[in-house]
Amino acid sequence: MLIGCPKEIKPQEFRVGLTPAAAGEAIGRGHSVIVETNAGMGAGFSDEDYQAVGATVLGTAEEVFAKADMIVKVKEPQAVERKMLREGQLLFTYLHLAPDPDQTHDLIASGATCIAYETVTDDRGGLPLLAPMSEVAGRLAPQVGSWTLQKANGGRGVLMGGVPGVGPAKVVVIGGGVVGTHAAKIAAGMGADVTILDRSLPRLRYLDDVFGGTFKNQYSTAAATAELIETADMVIGAVLIPGAAAPKLISREQLSTMKPGAVLVDVAIDQGGCFETSRATTHADPIYEVDGVMHYCVANMPGAVARTSTIALGNATMPFMLSLADKGWKEACAADKHLLNGLNVHAGKLTYAAVGEALGLDT
Ligand code: NAD
Repeated sequence: MLIGCPKEIKPQEFRVGLTPAAAGEAIGRGHSVIVETNAGMGAGFSDEDYQAVGATVLGTAEEVFAKADMIVKVKEPQAVERKMLREGQLLFTYLHLAPDPDQTHDLIASGATCIAYETVTDDRGGLPLLAPMSEVAGRLAPQVGSWTLQKANGGRGVLMGGVPGVGPAKVVVIGGGVVGTHAAKIAAGMGADVTILDRSLPRLRYLDDVFGGTFKNQYSTAAATAELIETADMVIGAVLIPGAAAPKLISREQLSTMKPGAVLVDVAIDQGGCFETSRATTHADPIYEVDGVMHYCVANMPGAVARTSTIALGNATMPFMLSLADKGWKEACAADKHLLNGLNVHAGKLTYAAVGEALGLDT
């Protein structure tokens, strides 16, 4: 199969769909790879890195889209990219169609077969192509939170690990899933005093078994949250209710009960945010203050560490990408129900029920 990887064009997107390592694996199995010039630059991969594994570098996205049997990307195709998709072509990328009727209509009209990273599943009920980005965002949360805690950024001026004779920062993580667990691990590794809150008892049992000595855990109630945030230096929001907007777990009135200069990092901002005062920010202008409490609410946190994120995403997508290339989408999806769950659009039809329900379209 001829696999094509264009440069991402969405603003502030520095990741790339194919790493040179993944391109090399595909070429090693007899496939061909074409990459748009500078596609990997934002993630630290040069054209020469791709050429070294046998890929061909082309000058424009138009050439890549015109020639490739399968397009591998990161972000949903932008309007100008959607015009270049053609009937029978395979698109493998994040799509997030439910809130995006324009994209959905364009993909249906293109006649392409579109497999969305975010709806591919695994045997444990997880989302294996979303998990790496949750791991990245979770691990990044205490890092950006500790930067925000610094005085010059409006924070309390508290060091995560303290020093001998001075206690550590107190960190509360709300939500103990993928994001929360990785956030708690890193915060604890920085020496902070960490408590994680979750509503799932099986999850709390798991966290207690595995991390009992590293950080504390507590059942998530409004009362427990109210009590913990009064003494917290940093609160990380990491909840998810699948298919729903994030619940608001800290109200504006409650900010007055927090310490001045305390920091809220709302990782759940891409689902609307779990603090009442959260509003989405960008890497260029990531923080703001409300009632003396600093907020960090970047909706695309993994973009800040594009190289790590690209490699992590590539590790997760590669087996699926190779299966699609080896077998073609039909046989690959027939052999793997989890990959089939990724199929969102095929030959002029929406094939994913949840998107159809959200947009009032037939599937
Ligand atoms: P996950 O499903 O692995 O974990 C969510 C956890 O929240 C679950 O353990 C669940 O029991 C818990 N939860 C639900 N309601 C709760 C409540 N009221 N109190 C405490 N815990 C509660 O999800 P995840 O992969 O960890 O993602 C968490 C959030 O981070 C999602 O909103 C996701 O979209 C977001 N995210 C954002 C970025 C970003 O760049 N901002 C990147 C990745 C993920």
